[in-house]
Amino acid sequence: PYDMLIVGAGPAGAAAAVYAARKGLRVGLVADRFGGQTLDTLGIENFISVNHTEGPQFARALENHVREYPVDVMAGLRAAQLDGAGEPGALATVTLDNGGQLKARSLVLATGARWRELGVPGEAEYRNKGVAYCPHCDGPLFKGQRVAVVGGGNSGVEAAIDLAGIVKEVTLLEFAPNLKADDVLVKKLQSLPNVTILTHVQTQEVVGQNGKVSGLRYLHRETGESVTLALEGIFVQIGLVPNTEWLKGTLELSRYGEIVVDAKGATSLPGVFAAGDCTTVPFKQIIIATGDGAKAALGAFDALMRMPNP
Ligand code: FAD
Repeated sequence: PYDMLIVGAGPAGAAAAVYAARKGLRVGLVADRFGGQTLDTLGIENFISVNHTEGPQFARALENHVREYPVDVMAGLRAAQLDGAGEPGALATVTLDNGGQLKARSLVLATGARWRELGVPGEAEYRNKGVAYCPHCDGPLFKGQRVAVVGGGNSGVEAAIDLAGIVKEVTLLEFAPNLKADDVLVKKLQSLPNVTILTHVQTQEVVGQNGKVSGLRYLHRETGESVTLALEGIFVQIGLVPNTEWLKGTLELSRYGEIVVDAKGATSLPGVFAAGDCTTVPFKQIIIATGDGAKAALGAFDALMRMPNP
């Protein structure tokens, strides 16, 4: 068995692996895709001390760093089930979707999250070519331009307020007749001069020209009228879904499906820690996930020290 088994090899899982290995532990790292969401990212400009890098290059750097240490890397495998240790010092079991089983004295879950997509024509084609999901990451790329934010919940309204300070014009589109965000956010949004709010509209198509976004077509749900907005960017803000479906019923999840963690990354199961975008940690960013992975590994190490010897 492993002293520490890490599930997920994005920024959080990679950081946890390096920290755990440096404690001299027997470490396993099982993941579907090494690098996680960073593999799908174009430019990264907010990982402090690295002025600019590309996602796939960052993912390779994560892997190189982990492979400097004697970590048992099992890539291309998915975890399908978790059975907690029951009592401190006993072994937890992770069952893979190929039927294999891995046992460990402690776990760090770092399975990340995925953005919910609109599923309209043009979205996939123009992803990273005007279609964006993260205002903290890509907002500055649209300085002085026109953008839309799709989604009128808290994250959409926050994104629109944030972007209004950077870009020329923001149009917020919400499917329902009313915005669902907190009142204080809606009032703030309504007070901004360069923001237009459209409710009761359905996004129908991302329109592009010369390989990048040039517009967004939407349907006015009351009148049936179809309108095309001319713009350069579209931020999709209809939800971030944690990759925790496989954990339902085993440990405490928030109502959004995030693993509930405390200040040391501990979950509701003894010996099981979690880090990064799959948890309740606020603000889903690479630098935050990285720090969070280090923290959860140290939290798990701390718990191991208190366990009886195997
Ligand atoms: P992830 O990166 O999601 O990694 C999850 C890991 O778990 C992967 O290895 C995955 O394969 C694995 N996994 C998932 N489920 C299972 C399972 N059941 N079994 C085994 N393995 C599993 N952040 C920034 O700071 N700056 C940016 O510029 C930026 N740009 C972004 C652009 C895009 C297009 C996207 C999608 C995200 C961007 N982000 C950016 C956000 C950033 O990528 C995430 O916050 C960060 O990757 C989260 O790290 P993580 O390790 O928690 O999860």
